[in-house]
Amino acid sequence: MLLTAKWVLPISQRPIEDGAVVTEGPKIKDIGKFKTMNNKYPDEEVINFGKAIILPGFVDLHTHLEYSVFRGACDDLGYADWKIQLTKKSEILKKGDWILSAYLGALEAIQSGITTIADITKGGASLRAAKDAGLRGIIYYEVTGMDHTKVPEIMIETENNIDKWINQASGTNLTIGFAPHSPYTVSPPLYRSSTGWAREHNFKICTHLAGSKAEYDFVKYGSGRLPNEYWDTVGWGDILWQPTGVSPVKYLEEWGVFDGGNMLAVHCVQVDEADIDILKKYDVSVAYCPRCNAKLGMGIAPLSGFLNCQLRIGMGTDSPASNNTMDIFDEMRIGLLLQRGITRSSGFTAEDFVYMATLGGARAINLHNDIGSLDQGKQADIIAVDMSHSHQIPTRDPYSALVYTANQENVVLTMVAGRILYRNCKYTTLDEAEILKKAEPIRRKLKME
Ligand SMILES: [Zn+2]
Repeated sequence: MLLTAKWVLPISQRPIEDGAVVTEGPKIKDIGKFKTMNNKYPDEEVINFGKAIILPGFVDLHTHLEYSVFRGACDDLGYADWKIQLTKKSEILKKGDWILSAYLGALEAIQSGITTIADITKGGASLRAAKDAGLRGIIYYEVTGMDHTKVPEIMIETENNIDKWINQASGTNLTIGFAPHSPYTVSPPLYRSSTGWAREHNFKICTHLAGSKAEYDFVKYGSGRLPNEYWDTVGWGDILWQPTGVSPVKYLEEWGVFDGGNMLAVHCVQVDEADIDILKKYDVSVAYCPRCNAKLGMGIAPLSGFLNCQLRIGMGTDSPASNNTMDIFDEMRIGLLLQRGITRSSGFTAEDFVYMATLGGARAINLHNDIGSLDQGKQADIIAVDMSHSHQIPTRDPYSALVYTANQENVVLTMVAGRILYRNCKYTTLDEAEILKKAEPIRRKLKME
């Protein structure tokens, strides 16, 4: 197949005007000027997207597909209140509801040009949806538990379930990872033994870290709403929690959670220079989730500090429960504008953010040899973004157009491993009408309709 458009953005090299990408099976066979490619491969089927940009599919470093049905259910709350309300509403859903909710998330991911997800899931709903949708990614098995006595029990359950998940993921573009949820939901012994176990078995690890001030106060001072109202909500009210006197990042370092690397930390808003040095020391990569962080009043992550230390950074949308859409364009745009606002400088460019949403994200989860740029031999994870609308013309700089003018409605092609998942508003792997119809009764259960 030969895909051509006004612009091709390989990411690994300068944009190609009137460019083309040739795919063969799951891989990219060649890339260059359309004329050259057309002469070289005269028999290839040509798809011409016209005034559009072809680029690698987005890597979304933080998703919870299964929370998609909660869109709008917990709006306008600070982090602790949001978490409490989300936890209470989650009780209402049954297993099938979670799966349907994850399908809803998969629909949106595909429509947004997201081809790779790094998804944290508790019951595995995201695994099923991502598999049926044909997405690529890492599905992290989530554990929580503050009761020290239950660590052995949790680990046996984890080993059993992960084995099943690995079987379910075989033959797909998904791998299974491991995610201790966060410092306020995972006890120190559980963090230590589970991450040790995960590294022994070569699982990639992900954790929420240093997100809200509520989490910071919990770890450092043992105070705030998380060890009180939230713990009461989840039945941990009788467990004693002692203040540690250190930041969340330092706390995890002290418990050996970063030892051995292979760690993706989500949020990292409540961090200072010493924390960033620790992240660098253990080569921890970071998912920057600016919209979720701003919407829940968590703050703004110090991106320039991360980049000065050359941390591996990518963009994360988090779930529609917190950040009501999975629109990576919005994430790049708002993420960039917030940084400009707080640093009072123009230090970041649109190109920096497109990099973070593609190759930067791929590096953060060590998939950069396969995805993240359009290079010969890499996987054909490719999207096309239409630029023919009035709000986008004239398009002289494709990076600028993507970050400052585009949104998820402009995506006209989503391809994973050479397979078209979405083209011109039509899905090839999922039944959009059926999923939307089935989502309505679930939203009624949540008292949202
Ligand atoms: Zn999350």
